[in-house]
This record gives sequence, structure tokens and C-alpha cells, in this order.
Amino acid sequence: MAQVYLNGDFLPPEAARISPWDRGFLFGDGVYEVIPVYRGRPFLGEAHLDRLHRSLAAIDLAVPAIPWQEIFPKLIGPAPRDCALYLQITRGTYATRDHRLPEVVRPTVFAFTWDLTPPPKCGVSGITREDFRWDRCDIKSIALLGNVLLRQSATEAQAQEALLFRKGWLTEGSSSNVFAVLEGKLCTPPKSRRLLSGITRALVLQLAEQAGLPCEEREIHQEELAKAEEIWITSSTREVLPLIQLDGKPVGAGQIGPWWRQMDQWFQQYKQKWLAAHD
Ligand code: PMP
Repeated sequence: MAQVYLNGDFLPPEAARISPWDRGFLFGDGVYEVIPVYRGRPFLGEAHLDRLHRSLAAIDLAVPAIPWQEIFPKLIGPAPRDCALYLQITRGTYATRDHRLPEVVRPTVFAFTWDLTPPPKCGVSGITREDFRWDRCDIKSIALLGNVLLRQSATEAQAQEALLFRKGWLTEGSSSNVFAVLEGKLCTPPKSRRLLSGITRALVLQLAEQAGLPCEEREIHQEELAKAEEIWITSSTREVLPLIQLDGKPVGAGQIGPWWRQMDQWFQQYKQKWLAAHD
């Protein structure tokens, strides 16, 4: 496996060590990012780093500048590979377990890559669940127990994603944002503290607007979603993925729909252009 980055060092994964007194381990006190890398280039890397800075600011974690532009090529290596870059910053290690924030911060910075397999071009299935997570899902926190349990409930139902609702209103997926085609409009819940502002979500909205596709950021009720013509989930590692089944029932015609085919084409074209421009 490729080397990992830990606090300034590049190491074989088995040589990387952190203390059990790290606040990330004790409290889940940290934030992270996942950046897709195509042909060796971090796709929309700036947008991901901006979001990382917003997450850090939201948890009041001020860190010295991290030289990501030097770290990324070393982690990715010289081959033009497709991989995912994972970045994590915790509030670091202190002598005692104390809920109060330390005055002097010595963050733990960890990063590694894994090979990215292209997302399936077939439809996948989803289930619906009550969103029992906390009220700051806009922060990309490493404390992901809610997301993990919700994703597991999807796995146990032989589904790929759990779509989450607060009192009947759609928020997002356990590790994705959600779009639906409703009465001839592409809809997605508006940004709020209840969902992560996805980089892929923003790109899909941008591509739809550029093409003049009718689209709207608005609240979506569970009953309405059950009648959607198409449902997609979006994320950096799964791109735009069509859901063809929800809670065991077909979504729309139960097949990949025309809106998704069009969006996937725009998405792939945008990606290729972006990569060509960042050669
Ligand atoms: N919501 C959640 C809870 C996620 O974990 C993710 C994936 N990290 C997303 C949305 C999608 O965000 P992005 O498109 O930036 O990967």
C-alpha cells in the first residue's frame, strides 16, 4: 500500500502511530475530507479544501497552514492513477481527557489514499430511515456513528444507501446528497445545518443551471419522494448514481431514467474538460 502522511512524515501505513489520548479517538473531535483523484489530479481540490477550512472554523480549530500542494503529489505518486485522497485533522493529543478545548492546539494531521473503482453505471437500491443524527450535519465531522449505523441498516436490507428524513422531510443520504425529478423539475433539499453541502451536489446544480434544466433547491417530503420519476444520490466517490428501487418499490419506471443519462453525460464531459485544463 502507498505511504500515508502523519504530522509531517510520510510512512508505510503500518508504521503510522497516534496516541489513544488523541481527541479524535476520545471525542471524535476532528474533521475530514475525501477528494476524488482522476489521472493523478485532485478533482475540484480547491472546493474540497475550502470546505475543510469551513469545517475547521465551525469547530473552532485553528491550524497552521498545511502544505497540501506538496503533500498530495507524494501521496498520489507519479502514476496517473484514479484514487481517493482522505484528509483528517483532529484537535490532537493532550495529557488528560478533558471536554474543554485546549488553549494551545497541536493538531493531528493524517492523510492517505485508496484506489478508486469507477461507480457502477447501473441503478442501485435505497431504503428510507429517520435521520437521528445531530443538528450540525453541515460540518464534515469524523464523528460518523449515526451515518455508520444508518448505512449499516441499508446494507442489512441489501440496499446501497439510506435516504434520511427528519419528521418526514428529506435531508440527505448516509454518505451522499439526494436529488429527485419531481413533476418535471430536478429538486434537492436546500443547504442547511441538516445536510452536508456536497461538492458533487454543487456541480450537479451548476451543470443543470448552465443547461437551462428546470431545477429547484426546496424541501422534499417523504410522500412526494415516493412518487419521484427519478432519484439520484451524489458523492465524490460515487459521482451521480441513479436509485431504481426505494424500500423495495420501483422508482419511476424502475429503470435508469433519461434525466440521469443526460446529467451523467454532462458530468463526464465536465470532468474530462477539467482534467484537460489541469494537465
Ligand atoms: N452527505 C454526506 C453525509 C456525505 O458523507 C457525503 C460524502 N462525503 C456527501 C453528502 C456528498 O458530499 P461530496 O459530494 O462532497 O462528496
